[in-house]
Amino acid sequence: MQSVRVTFLGSGDAFSAGGSFQAAYLVQSGGTAFLLDCGSATLTSLKRHRIDADLIDWIALSHLHGDHFAGLPYLFLEYTYQQPRSRPLRILGPPGTKERVWALYRAAYKELAEQPLPFALEFTELLPGTPATVGGVRVDAFRVPHQEKDISLGLRVGVDGRTILYSGDTGWTEDLVTQSQRTDLFICECCFFETRLPVHLDYPRLVEQRARFGTKRMILTHLGREVLDRRGEIQIEMASDGLVVEL
Ligand SMILES: [Zn+2]
Ligand SMILES: [Zn+2]
Repeated sequence: MQSVRVTFLGSGDAFSAGGSFQAAYLVQSGGTAFLLDCGSATLTSLKRHRIDADLIDWIALSHLHGDHFAGLPYLFLEYTYQQPRSRPLRILGPPGTKERVWALYRAAYKELAEQPLPFALEFTELLPGTPATVGGVRVDAFRVPHQEKDISLGLRVGVDGRTILYSGDTGWTEDLVTQSQRTDLFICECCFFETRLPVHLDYPRLVEQRARFGTKRMILTHLGREVLDRRGEIQIEMASDGLVVEL
């Protein structure tokens, strides 16, 4: 089996705690390369880590918060001017993704957005319970408690015989336990240590539940200030920008 490589392009929260970039994870296998989320500095992080942005075949978004999708306009610019792209770019995401991505691009680059992109932008709505398949990769989405009305998703991705679970942003839900079974990697958000909220996860809860997650490797990400301040007490692997994991 070919290995699957995951690069943590952004391990920070919305506040870029500790100077870390916002959420973006590059998954590369023999057949394809794709992003899970595309936080604001995704292009910056790709270049800092000398990864060619042109590799990216498609992008799956967990939810439509800026720290998870605001990097898209800069990729569109890159694909227009610096590395002109002709092959389509598919973006998978929760209901409303197409409208929000176009609104973001128009807000960021009004006149450019009035002209056609040199590549086709294609959208796939991810619906819980309905798997999507892109380039041989299966993406299963499930709803997680993070926003009141808009839908936030956790993503379970099957690529080249490996399974990756990505929590997106979420409060505690038993679905994390269920979805983590038989996974090779669980990329799990961990915003807080002392603070407990219904819309994000905190370290004490995760360490308490750790034995129930049926994953080979769990890595905490979306790390907030509280977590970084108590780094010495954390007993679950923590992400950092540029971390590369081979599965
Ligand atoms: Zn969020
Ligand atoms: Zn976030």
